[in-house]
Amino acid sequence: MESYDVAIVGAGLAGLQCARLLATQGVKVVLIDRKATLDQKIHTTGIFVRRTLVDFDFPDDCLGPPVKHVTLYSPARRALEIVSAHDEFRLGRMGQLYQHYLSQCVAAGVHWMPETSYLGYSEIDGKLTISLSTGSSVHSITTRYLIAADGARSRVARDLKLDLNREWIVGAECVFTGAVIEGPPRLLCFLDPKLAPGYIAWIAHDGEETHLGVGGYPERFNPAAALSKFQAGVADIVDLQQAKQIERRGGYIPVGGVLRNIANTHGLLIGDAAGAVSPLTAGGLDACMRLSAFAAKVVVEYLSSGNPQILRSYSGELFRSKFASRLWARRVASTLCQRQLLELTCAVMRLPLLNRVVRHVFFGRGSFPDVLNVASETSR
Ligand SMILES: Cc1cc2nc3c(=O)[nH]c(=O)nc-3n(C[C@H](O)[C@H](O)[C@H](O)COP(=O)(O)OP(=O)(O)OC[C@H]3O[C@@H](n4cnc5c(N)ncnc54)[C@H](O)[C@@H]3O)c2cc1C
Repeated sequence: MESYDVAIVGAGLAGLQCARLLATQGVKVVLIDRKATLDQKIHTTGIFVRRTLVDFDFPDDCLGPPVKHVTLYSPARRALEIVSAHDEFRLGRMGQLYQHYLSQCVAAGVHWMPETSYLGYSEIDGKLTISLSTGSSVHSITTRYLIAADGARSRVARDLKLDLNREWIVGAECVFTGAVIEGPPRLLCFLDPKLAPGYIAWIAHDGEETHLGVGGYPERFNPAAALSKFQAGVADIVDLQQAKQIERRGGYIPVGGVLRNIANTHGLLIGDAAGAVSPLTAGGLDACMRLSAFAAKVVVEYLSSGNPQILRSYSGELFRSKFASRLWARRVASTLCQRQLLELTCAVMRLPLLNRVVRHVFFGRGSFPDVLNVASETSR
């Protein structure tokens, strides 16, 4: 039976970032995903914010042109335009980016197991035996440590008896090339309690790719029906006549804030499995990069020392306080389910003082806390 230091389940951005960083430090890593190739069934629009683009080095050919214009529409389609002095967002070419990171993982020595599903694990004499299925065959590997990067509804987190996400929104989108929108590249956000209850519908257009999507609380809407209705309703804004639909994406987004109990001596959680998503904006890509980097550091220290105290620094409690205002804003957003109330909120947001709040939400630099710094501050 093949034996590893670390088994990572899930090769989304969180798993890839963690695998790459562990392997470059000499850790023997296996990366497992049920997908055959990483450009299938992508769970993200791929909007990277400025802070992530500044702090991490993404290959330029995996990113679209910069976006600095945002339009926020009220339910009655009154527009609030904001423009940043900076390039605020770039749409990742996610399939390409995942493949790029996977090549780096493999070059660093990661053993890649595609088309392989995690089934469960058992512990014997301090070693974990992981049960996997590839096609119709069931087989096992052993590992010293298990990392859950298997997304919002993590089976690995449940098996590790760590915390589980309990509050979600669901997103669904279509990706087009050849769509036409007047003006410069922009992010258009639509507040509409029917099409996107508790969240937004969006058009992210960088001049090359155009993503049309809806998100909201799953018990309050049908995402597929809302997406069709949204697409038909924005024909005056986006011309899709010559456009080609190249993908359909979607998935669950945890919005209850980073979980508290995210590590024990068998394993830990990263990315969506750890609830590492901004409860207000539902952005999780920045969190994937930062929390996975911190996880890699903690795991290297833990494996080399065997000291379980080291794992105490990997606790959601350390970062949760940084989420307080966004959790509060999520509570408010989830209750804004009446059209008139949302219209009024949008009217108020056009006032200069609150306009600043809107700018802060879209252009602020406070996505996920800088976990490496938070952890070292608290250990002092
Ligand atoms: C529609 C949508 C749009 C979004 N847009 C944005 C955005 O524009 N910007 C932003 O910052 N955030 C966005 N988010 C949030 C962000 O995309 C996620 O936080 C982030 O992608 C999570 O990455 P991850 O690696 O944790 O999980 P995932 O990307 O979900 O990866 C999990 C992986 O685990 C694999 N897996 C699961 N179970 C098993 C198993 N049992 N065995 C083997 N493999 C398994 C899956 O195949 C998958 O590859 C969006 C989310 C959604 C759903």
